[in-house]
Amino acid sequence: MVDAALVEALRSGDRRALAKAITLVESSLPEHRQRAQLLIDALLPHAGKSLRVGITGVPGVGKSSFIEALGLELIASGHRVAVLAVDPSSSLSGGSLLGDKTRMEELSRRAEAFIRPSPTGGTLGGVSGRTREAILVCEAAGYDLVIVETVGVGQSETAVANMTDLFVLLQLPNAGDELQAMKKGIVELADIVVVNKSDLDARATERTCSQFAAALSLLRPPAHGRSTPVLAASATRGEGLAEFWLAVEALRAAMVASGEFAARRRRQALAWMWELIASGLDLRFRAQPQVRARLPQLAAAVEAGSIDAAAAARQLLDLAGVRD
Ligand code: GDP
Repeated sequence: MVDAALVEALRSGDRRALAKAITLVESSLPEHRQRAQLLIDALLPHAGKSLRVGITGVPGVGKSSFIEALGLELIASGHRVAVLAVDPSSSLSGGSLLGDKTRMEELSRRAEAFIRPSPTGGTLGGVSGRTREAILVCEAAGYDLVIVETVGVGQSETAVANMTDLFVLLQLPNAGDELQAMKKGIVELADIVVVNKSDLDARATERTCSQFAAALSLLRPPAHGRSTPVLAASATRGEGLAEFWLAVEALRAAMVASGEFAARRRRQALAWMWELIASGLDLRFRAQPQVRARLPQLAAAVEAGSIDAAAAARQLLDLAGVRD
């Protein structure tokens, strides 16, 4: 049975109901999973209307300062802003690179904002699945901007880029050398690059911006008739935020007009379906008694080189009843 009172409270803007709903979708207890699914089904007709923006950057680059300053400005112009975090470190080690406790204090006090620290426990795949559902819950609660924040570590950027409409990379002004060493994959994911802390060194900021623009023109062919915007900002001084938002809106408008906005969401939904199928099959496979009985021995034999990986896989798939 879907919790009708929870749905109603959430839809009417009650932030406690929203927090409760997200706790439910984040829970991995089997009895909660079923309730969470019913809740998602009930909320789905009201979801999907926000702009989903992913933000990444190394710890200390100014993500929370930037999101807080931007969020406060957007609230002032009538937006409602939800911030969700995907922190690979909190799920793997129990520690948090995003330092959840003291972040975005001013924004979190505002009724028009909702800030959710990263879910803990489980694999990154699990965490990103819950974040996907949390996005839907926030949308059903009336938030028109959902920011998903992550740190530049591991696979989390790809996961976040795959659940958002626009992906933003925050950089420091002295990124010259970093640029060389930077994981090419992340820069390629970026729809907008922001060089934050421009107040520290205006010339270095300018240099970094042009280095990025040059690198991006090689890495990413211009999309929607324009090249990837590279902007300077100072989160603490509130500079560059309005320009950033204009770039976001322009990009969104161009993507909607070209059909890319809807196409991206459709691609994401399809990819997510396949991910869920793969993880469901994997769980079922590992849970088979015959597989469980043989797996440790065969895995050790593959590691020791005494059996070929393909032969071991074939044996295990046979035991699970999966044949070509
Ligand atoms: P995060 O780890 O990426 O979320 O970074 P934070 O937002 O916590 O910022 C890290 C530090 O950089 C804090 O001490 C901020 O006050 C500072 N900071 C953030 N943005 C700026 C900026 O635009 N200029 C300067 N000078 N400092 C900033």
